[in-house]
Amino acid sequence: MERVIIIGSGPAGLTAAIYAARANLKPLVLAGGLYGGQLMLTTDVENYPGFVDGIMGPDLMIRFREQAERFGAQIENVDVVSVDFRKRPLVVRTPDAQYEAETIIVATGASARWLDIPGEELLRGRGVSSCATCDGAFFRDKRIFVVGGGDSAAEEALFLTRFGRSVTLVHRRDRLRASKVMVDRVLSHEKIGVLWNSMVDEVYGDTHVKGLRVRDVIDGSVGEVPADALFVAIGHTPNTAIFADQLDLDERGYIVSPDGSSTNVDGVFVAGDVNDFRYRQAVTAAGAGCRAAMDAEKYLEALEFRVDSLTPR
Ligand code: NAP
Repeated sequence: MERVIIIGSGPAGLTAAIYAARANLKPLVLAGGLYGGQLMLTTDVENYPGFVDGIMGPDLMIRFREQAERFGAQIENVDVVSVDFRKRPLVVRTPDAQYEAETIIVATGASARWLDIPGEELLRGRGVSSCATCDGAFFRDKRIFVVGGGDSAAEEALFLTRFGRSVTLVHRRDRLRASKVMVDRVLSHEKIGVLWNSMVDEVYGDTHVKGLRVRDVIDGSVGEVPADALFVAIGHTPNTAIFADQLDLDERGYIVSPDGSSTNVDGVFVAGDVNDFRYRQAVTAAGAGCRAAMDAEKYLEALEFRVDSLTPR
């Protein structure tokens, strides 16, 4: 039986792994088939403290992983398919194995949301994408569109200017939600234009994206716009499907925690974007991972103390 299993391997999961490993708990990290979380799909990270000149997202996550491994964390690149938190020990299943643990830290993060419009699924990988880092280079000198008005959309748009002939942000309101520094960069970039108060109703093409049907949300008019690529950057959904009948979730599907670490199940802790609708930063996720690991350690200590005091001498 494991003392701590950590599910997930973004900044929250791997920070929890570093802390749990340094506490000599030999954590097992079930990292997911694609480890590293959302930063693996990012380019420059400029706001993670300690990196004066910024660092590439994947490089940062490799460092997190190596640091956790250095202290003895065992990291398996497998997906968890189900859990049973009604049993003691707690049970976690992957496609090929079943694990038992005294404590679990859930750090499964969140995934990119899609628009759910005609053509989107059909043309995914043929011009429709949610990851500029992964797919941007396919669209050199092309007409690129990005949907969204948050930091992700701004970041994607700026990154895509390296490749596209033009980059057009399509936003459903008349103000961007992104932070001021990103808004300034986007609006002052010579390659970036913005379609304000606009929604993409359809993306069309046969073997690849040829155009978008864009609706003006003020007057309802719809126009066709030639396009080569559509990047969707409209936020995220927490990865909580496998916990739905075991952990308390809020109306948006995030795991509920009264203190940002504990859950409704004793011994199960939560960290990072899977619980955090508000901040969703690498640094806040890392902080939450630290808290969850320290709370798991305290929980295990209390458990041992209880067992010790009940054992006749
Ligand atoms: P977000 O802040 O929730 O923004 C989502 C954007 O998509 C909003 O502008 C929203 O419009 C729009 N949107 C949502 N659903 C839509 C739909 N169905 N159709 C069209 N537009 C839709 O998400 P995010 O940009 O992914 O950012 C999430 C968090 O991560 C934020 O806290 C952000 O600061 C952080 N982040 C930080 C960085 C960085 O610091 N470098 C980079 C990326 C993300 P409305 O504005 O009208 O709601």
